[in-house]
Amino acid sequence: MIRFSEISKRYESGHEALRRLSFELQEGEMAFLTGHSGAGKSTVLRLIALMERPTQGQLWIGGQNLTRIHRRGIPYVRRQIGMIFQDHRLLFDRSVFDNVALPLVIAGFPHREIGKRVRAALDMVGLLSKEKNKPIMLSGGEQQRVGIARAVVNRPPILLADEPTGNLDPQLSAEIMGLFAKFNQVGCTVLIASHDLDLIEAMGKRIISLKNGLLQRDGAEVFDV
Ligand code: ADP
Ligand code: ADP
Repeated sequence: MIRFSEISKRYESGHEALRRLSFELQEGEMAFLTGHSGAGKSTVLRLIALMERPTQGQLWIGGQNLTRIHRRGIPYVRRQIGMIFQDHRLLFDRSVFDNVALPLVIAGFPHREIGKRVRAALDMVGLLSKEKNKPIMLSGGEQQRVGIARAVVNRPPILLADEPTGNLDPQLSAEIMGLFAKFNQVGCTVLIASHDLDLIEAMGKRIISLKNGLLQRDGAEVFDV
């Protein structure tokens, strides 16, 4: 589903954020990306989401080689990906419903279909009763769940999350991770960047660790980093 082959990324500053990184994520797999701040985790996610382009190497998403993709093909690939950010990036002057509806409105879905899909997504994250609220009235954990509902409302086959529990206490963090596991169980391929080693180890999933842009470990256990 996701394949990095000898990917390097050098930013315009000259900083080499990733160095010849190779790994593969199968369809339906759930994995964590870990490593110190600056290790390259966000860069990996931004490359998959086509927010950045690699400097070298080949990157495949769902059988499509992104390094060869035409400009016209980019929106098609982006629609296959739901992305969740640490700071959730919600619109605070809009209701929960409108925030979750946004990707569907942009994609031009009909009105009735939007209502159905938004409520299905809110139901999955347990926020159906809060659709009229403004995000500011919600707790941090609820705000993150709105961000997740927005990411899954298009039913993308791939979910990416960048430090989704960075601002949450351990119990809420575990709940959020449980939600990702739920989406994974219904077939979503999930990749989560996190430096919370206790939390990700408890999930018992594959862990890909980066150090200074290099692949350090890839397996089911955390070692000293
Ligand atoms: P992580 O998510 O593991 O903290 P990042 O992928 O955000 O790591 O960053 C990896 C390295 O690349 C860091 O040293 C960071 O400062 C640098 N970096 C990230 N984005 C940019 C950018 N747009 N321009 C220049 N350097 C960047
Ligand atoms: P995170 O790792 O939590 O995603 P970062 O602080 O690494 O966030 O990056 C936030 C934004 O700042 C990104 O868009 C990234 O490209 C940019 N950025 C990060 N490090 C640098 C840097 N050294 N120079 C320029 N831009 C950077």
